[in-house]
Amino acid sequence: MLFKTKNSIELITAIKSLKLSHAVLIYSDEERRQDDLAKIVSCRVVCTSNNKPCFKCKACKKVELGIHPDVIYPEMSGTKLVFSIDEIRKIKAKIHVKPNEADSKIYIFLHAHKMTHSAQNAVLKVLEEPVSDCLFFLFCKSSFDLLETVTSRCSKFFLEKSDFEEIFRVLNYKSHRILRVGTEKFNEDFSEKVFNSILNFDEWELLKLVSQSFENKDNEHLILNKILGFFENILIYKNTDKKQNLENKVQSFSDTVSNSDTIKIIALTNQAITYRKRNIFQSIVATWFCANLYKILSTCRRKVLNN
Ligand SMILES: [Zn+2]
Repeated sequence: MLFKTKNSIELITAIKSLKLSHAVLIYSDEERRQDDLAKIVSCRVVCTSNNKPCFKCKACKKVELGIHPDVIYPEMSGTKLVFSIDEIRKIKAKIHVKPNEADSKIYIFLHAHKMTHSAQNAVLKVLEEPVSDCLFFLFCKSSFDLLETVTSRCSKFFLEKSDFEEIFRVLNYKSHRILRVGTEKFNEDFSEKVFNSILNFDEWELLKLVSQSFENKDNEHLILNKILGFFENILIYKNTDKKQNLENKVQSFSDTVSNSDTIKIIALTNQAITYRKRNIFQSIVATWFCANLYKILSTCRRKVLNN
């Protein structure tokens, strides 16, 4: 390393006491664990219990589901999927807006190296003027991924697999994991539940289940392909006379969704599959996918209720 980094013990102490620098940069190859660490820190920031982070209170659960309004994951965009300068400008414009529910806001850049140079320079300006109720957490693989001017503004930690395990152990993370199914086998009951949440327009349940399935690559692959297949069948049902062999739920739901909405959902699901193939973090894709799916479904529901 070109400069001194701190270790996991120092990070644990900083998280526990919430004496974190306003900008923290984590170097690591452990992608999934980074995502978990981001959640732990976010829970610590927003938790409403006495023993923070508890991973049990409503605020912690919102973090786990990726829906806490003060835990912000800036979005990547464009064909190259990068953090653009416009995204940083959006952050800058809102930086002095008070947090919604917690005492502080936290911005989490997973894949921080995917910031364009101009975006990094814009981030630098943000980091140069710390805001008291605003934290930045950046994750990337190596010290060469970001401009030195940016890294010099951050408190830096280099974490290996064992460091993450130590952090999870000390902060009691795994034992409180609320929604994880880990490597548990995906089963038909589970996919039934996912479809019920779609058919019942239950956004919260849908996000919970999709997030669960995304914990495991095989489950994630299966569930996205099942959703894709379901809506492709709806399209077949609506537009051809091949109606006999399709499941009952395809037939009953096909009255609810229009052709154009079905096509939108198919495109959305394909995009989610592509994002995951590009290794975009599972929590980001799950939240993005469910929010957009729900948006389309709620228009369908409005139409049904109006009829
Ligand atoms: Zn809590």
